[in-house]
Amino acid sequence: MAEFPGVSSIAADVAAGRTTARDVLDAHLARIDAREGEVHAFNLVMRERAMAVATEVDARVKRGENPGRLAGVPIALKDNMCTRGVETTCSSRILEGWKPPYDATTVQKLAAEGAVFVGKTNLDEFAMGSSTENSAFGPTRNPLDTSRVPGGSSGGSAAAVAAGFAAGSLGSDTGGSIRQPAALCGLVGVKPTYGLVSRYGLVAFASSLDQIGPFTHTVEDAAILTEVIAGHDPLDSTSIPQPAPDLVGALGAGVKGLRIGRVADLPEGADPDVLARLDAALEALARAGATIIDVTLPSLSFALTAYYLIAPAEASSNLARYDGVRYGRRVAAGDINTMYADTREAGFGDEVKRRIMLGTYALSAGYYDAYYGKALKVRRLIADDFARAYATADVILTPTSPSVAFRFGSKTDDPLAMYLCDIFTIPTNLAGHPAMSVPFGIGQDNMPVGVQVLAPTLGEATMFRVAAELERAV
Ligand code: GLN
Repeated sequence: MAEFPGVSSIAADVAAGRTTARDVLDAHLARIDAREGEVHAFNLVMRERAMAVATEVDARVKRGENPGRLAGVPIALKDNMCTRGVETTCSSRILEGWKPPYDATTVQKLAAEGAVFVGKTNLDEFAMGSSTENSAFGPTRNPLDTSRVPGGSSGGSAAAVAAGFAAGSLGSDTGGSIRQPAALCGLVGVKPTYGLVSRYGLVAFASSLDQIGPFTHTVEDAAILTEVIAGHDPLDSTSIPQPAPDLVGALGAGVKGLRIGRVADLPEGADPDVLARLDAALEALARAGATIIDVTLPSLSFALTAYYLIAPAEASSNLARYDGVRYGRRVAAGDINTMYADTREAGFGDEVKRRIMLGTYALSAGYYDAYYGKALKVRRLIADDFARAYATADVILTPTSPSVAFRFGSKTDDPLAMYLCDIFTIPTNLAGHPAMSVPFGIGQDNMPVGVQVLAPTLGEATMFRVAAELERAV
């Protein structure tokens, strides 16, 4: 996967004057010119701005100033992160043309370290989906095989890195939207602990679950980007009041003495090629000195059901703000209620409407306790299961996605089949824990397989240690 230069090598070369940010950017723009027509990773390529920023980074290097940890590193941003004065659409007609008046905190933090933003990436509309087929602007293709999906909802961010359009990217993960596309595109993808990374300026989908995290080719690069975007932000009331952790420092520690949990009652549904790679990963860690122990997570099989009550419930209230008055598109009508209805009818796609209806139903008077209330209880059971498991295991290993990247259209007629893509990733979001996907070899049809490393709250350092060992082993 070292086909393209990574975050750490670009930053080091630019800072040392071995190359320039402009040359690095030009190489990435050339790859965009060559393949973006076929891949469609971006809703917007920020060519002019990127050139101006790269030139500024080079000037700083020339003046002998510190150009930052990400000097000249081309980064792509999921198009649900606010960028000041730059269109932010969430791949929805309802936000088309909207230009936020401020930058997301993560965007600010990357920029402050010298990153060069190459563009805003495509996603399933409002991050609802697992294939990027729900974008209002057309799907993104998997650069490794363009007859297949890149995963979702952050499919554009994954494809941009896999195709060499950017050295790293940011996505958002509510139920798996960073880890699943990372697995399907052969990348490292990280969902940090809930509250570790600020969501200020991330367009909300399900506020008790959403987290921002990076996509990269290597574990070290993911550690660098996570360190840069983490840390307390007074502008996000859910932000954990402590500084960013040291993750890069943990990468070389190995896994000797660590206890790795294997889930004895893993929910069914993973393909044999995926399970074979999981077994190989466990064996590799055992060879490197870790102890493999069995853990049970009996409530895991209810996680998907709970998620599809909680996430749509929160979405239905978060998406109430798109009314044709405050943001984006408005469909003119004779009276205000018709204007609201016509704007939302024209502005939202089918999956978003389905979620709003599910969520509104789950929250309605008389049903609240039976659906939403019960889902919250299941959420608690899942957290309790994890707490018991983490009393004996330092991290847990599962598949990331039940299958390798699938073909376009193969799940679009069956929402439940699509929802099942996230069966192994959703429990982490419900618990608020960190998890990451690491490429671990090849499965069916020569497509990459990802292994998921799960850790307890703020267990990122150990999680990255294990991920680094898996990377060495493969
Ligand atoms: N695929 C899941 C969903 O559609 C997760 C999406 C996400 O993490 N944003 O809800």
